[in-house]
Amino acid sequence: MDLPVCPLCPVCNLDLSNHDQPAANHHVNRCLDGGYDAVAVADKQLDNNQVQDKRLSPSPTPPPPPAKKKKISAFNVLMSSNNPEEKADAEADAQSQPRQPRQPPFYKILQGMPIAVDAFAYSSIPNITAYFLTHAHSDHYQSLSKNWSGGPIYCSEITAELVHHITSVKREYLRPLSLNTAHTIPGTNGVTATLIDANHCPGSCIIVFEGRQTVDAAPSTFTSPWIGSSRSFKYLHCGDFRASPRHIRHPAIARSKFDIIYLDTTYLNPTYSFPPQPLVIDACRDLVLANLRGEMRVNSLMRPNSSMLDMIKGGWKKLSGAPEQDEHGEYVTDEKPSSGENKSENENIHPHTLPNDVLVVVGTYSIGKERIVKAIAHALNSKVYADKRRQALLRNERDSDLDALLTSDPYAAQVHIQGLGGVTIAALPDYISRFNGRFSRVIGIKPTGWTYSGGGRGGKSESSSGSGSASDSKSPSIDLLLKQDLSRWDTYTHKHIHSTRGSNDYVSCYGVPYSEHSSFTELTCFALSIDHTRIIATVNNAKPASRLRMKNWFDAWLLERRKRCERGEYSVEARSENFW
Ligand SMILES: [Zn+2]
Ligand SMILES: [Zn+2]
Repeated sequence: MDLPVCPLCPVCNLDLSNHDQPAANHHVNRCLDGGYDAVAVADKQLDNNQVQDKRLSPSPTPPPPPAKKKKISAFNVLMSSNNPEEKADAEADAQSQPRQPRQPPFYKILQGMPIAVDAFAYSSIPNITAYFLTHAHSDHYQSLSKNWSGGPIYCSEITAELVHHITSVKREYLRPLSLNTAHTIPGTNGVTATLIDANHCPGSCIIVFEGRQTVDAAPSTFTSPWIGSSRSFKYLHCGDFRASPRHIRHPAIARSKFDIIYLDTTYLNPTYSFPPQPLVIDACRDLVLANLRGEMRVNSLMRPNSSMLDMIKGGWKKLSGAPEQDEHGEYVTDEKPSSGENKSENENIHPHTLPNDVLVVVGTYSIGKERIVKAIAHALNSKVYADKRRQALLRNERDSDLDALLTSDPYAAQVHIQGLGGVTIAALPDYISRFNGRFSRVIGIKPTGWTYSGGGRGGKSESSSGSGSASDSKSPSIDLLLKQDLSRWDTYTHKHIHSTRGSNDYVSCYGVPYSEHSSFTELTCFALSIDHTRIIATVNNAKPASRLRMKNWFDAWLLERRKRCERGEYSVEARSENFW
């Protein structure tokens, strides 16, 4: 049986059954890019027809923000809009949003410690002396603004730069910490914090906390019996992360036992299966190279009109000796799959033999997805163009590789970064027409994370319900799930990336399963490889049914880990340094 589609957004739990596939993908990916509140509010305001109109109509400009701007994440509006008025509104919103102080949920307060994580929407929280920020996505910094006075904010150096740039929070409150070092945090009775690269967006980190329980700051009726005792506790807060064997091998994590793991459970359901990120980056680069070498033709559902054809004839310097396509427009070359670690044979092609008048536009909402941009730019030996606002943001990431690639001259770069809304079959021709014939055709790359159709390749699974109910005797064992999914992506190449409807020889778009959150399999490998007592979910925990589903998986992982440890298997063997 094919895997069932999941009718809920994995981030905000919105029922997506009224959305068609593109609208659902659009929703989920905006949520994943940090627009949690913005998307949820927008979707509630639009009935299904309006969703169709605003999300799917071939409009060259990004969809307009819904009317109640006060509730929209200002940063998302800022990043997705080219309209200066909207930008001014968004900036004003970002700086002066009056928020009602609410109580933070219990999972944002470390048990027994005066420390809050990603909890800035509640002004000053009683008994909290240290506020941690895991990364600069809006659903985590929330209502942080220049008016923040709640207390010191600890984060990575890059996140400090980004969040100051984005929210204007005063530097006097920012306490940037170096990575991979245990820092003693003032006012916490000696708790130490070690920041580790989260493998999410630039600056993102997971954090190991170690210390005694001294205060009950969480707004719940539960009181820990350990408060005031001399026992030392170890917690791992995962913020948003893409779990990797590197995390397991980190000296602050290996051979540690964690009392609590606060886990990013965005994709905690076997339905959410997608390839390891390094394979996707390679595939994406190879896709662009194959396209430029004329080795593949996209779906030709919509033929270009005559003026487009003239442009193609005049401008597209197709390489002589390029392989033919078959009558269905499928690629007829037979390239070896790239392994994710070995260099692709494509890299042996000298970039100067590729046409230099094909534009590649990569879509993104905010920070993140830079790895794809860099891989394509390096393969084409090209600069990267981004508009002023986006470039100012990117330069705060302190990525010297990216800095060296960035240019403010769109004519000088074959790779452009645009808002995701601008990377459509309808919008891209308008976009390249701005550049006076500099580009003869355009390839749009949409890094869209998990795809709604049920796990990319829509493979087979024994999963009877996809509900993740580990107590259901019909559910497959964790062992079986792992076996199925780990081998599933072994042969993943650019040939598995399909162009979107309406793509043609002049403009083609590709949705790429590039995720900055862990797949279900990666979460499972992570949990089976780390010694822990308890997991607390930080995503999807609003509804009791969802909490129960997740708890069932946590219990199943613990059971499986115990069995494996008895056999001497303390961690899941990884296929590479970077992925399981
Ligand atoms: Zn994030
Ligand atoms: Zn998040």
